[in-house]
Amino acid sequence: MSHIVVLGAGQAGSSLCAKLRKLGFDGEITLIGAEPVPPYQRPPLSKAYLMGEMEKERLFLRSESFYTDQDITLRLGAEVTRIVPSEKIVTVDGEDIAYDQLALTTGSVPRHLPDAIGGTLDGVHVVRALADVDAMADDFQPGRKCLVVGGGYIGLEAAAVARKMGVEVTLVEMSDRILQRVAAPQTSDYFRKLHTDHGVDIREGIGLARLLGDTQVTGAEFSDGSTLEVDFVIVGIGIAPADTLAQQTGLEIENGIKTDAHGRTSDPSVWAAGDCASFPWKGGRIRLESVQNAIDQAELVAENMLGADKNYEPHPWFWSDQYDVKLQIAGLNTGYDRVVSRAGDAEGSCSFWYYVGATLLAVDAMNAPRDYMIGKRLIEAGKSPDPEEIADPQTDMKGLLQR
Ligand code: NAP
Repeated sequence: MSHIVVLGAGQAGSSLCAKLRKLGFDGEITLIGAEPVPPYQRPPLSKAYLMGEMEKERLFLRSESFYTDQDITLRLGAEVTRIVPSEKIVTVDGEDIAYDQLALTTGSVPRHLPDAIGGTLDGVHVVRALADVDAMADDFQPGRKCLVVGGGYIGLEAAAVARKMGVEVTLVEMSDRILQRVAAPQTSDYFRKLHTDHGVDIREGIGLARLLGDTQVTGAEFSDGSTLEVDFVIVGIGIAPADTLAQQTGLEIENGIKTDAHGRTSDPSVWAAGDCASFPWKGGRIRLESVQNAIDQAELVAENMLGADKNYEPHPWFWSDQYDVKLQIAGLNTGYDRVVSRAGDAEGSCSFWYYVGATLLAVDAMNAPRDYMIGKRLIEAGKSPDPEEIADPQTDMKGLLQR
């Protein structure tokens, strides 16, 4: 009987296994994860779960009985030490397991601050795994002082939760502006104002020199020489693809595990999907760090493992919740040269539309779900309305879809 082994029990790994069964694969499936818990959703970790508004059980993507019912062998808390492609073997907790096809859905790892600048002091947290969030929960007490390092989505979402819980928050961002890596200045301005209005002290263009303290973090010193007293630190300085094992195995690596358009790696029996994989896109390569990509790419790889021969076409969308604002993003803004603003119906509601030349690339919508939905459908249909029409509040947005 054919055996598919899936390495990495996150969103991508779980989706891949479920899809294999949905497609009628009746061979053996083994899903291997390093964490001791079954596959769970990560997005709520920096939002509702951190806030204490979501039970742990609701994080799990599927009930444990799902894996038994679907005859998927779950090996959790497991350490994979090697892959031997020539023998089609993975070594898990010292045991060799033979596979016919292997999928790598190993995800990504958070960047940590170096030990030399206090990155391993007690009270310094990253937000990536369930255990990380459980470890920081007690720190979120009213009046305590939190330093957030990094103004990406992790840092901003954690800052919003902390403020809601009465924590005093200072956020430092090394770049000129928060969200610089992922959004236009207009979106950065919107979120800077939102956070400032909620009492976050945002300091941009400032690096962290070092964290202070003997065993527990007690303060921070910045690149401009200023210092700050802190009780705990949230580090949100980006993630890196979890590709160490793939690298040791000799698979080709290029900003993560290199795959072809089908999701196949440089070894024909090994596939990759999700945060850890880079794939061909618009004449180059791209690696997407999002739940939607983890699901879609993993499901496509499942199909291709069973012989579908399909290319992956990403339809990116993202979202973020901060205070009472829902940010929804459709498309990828890479290479944009113009941003058009559109006011929304309610106060604080607006959207920013990214163009390159006359081509619409992406939309950031803040509390503007209708504009987001229309933008998403336009992008997916390859339609690019005249930017002047987008900016005009009188434009019948739905009508743009009919053209
Ligand atoms: P991120 O988007 O890469 O943002 C990290 C930010 O920290 C960057 O702006 C970076 O600046 C800055 N930075 C790096 N080193 C720093 C330092 N020493 N001091 C101050 N600032 C520093 O990553 P993230 O926020 O950690 O999130 C991790 C991943 O999860 C990302 O892919 C993110 O999109 C995803 N995520 C998504 C959502 C969502 O969609 N709602 C929510 C949470 C997380 P430079 O760019 O200059 O390096």
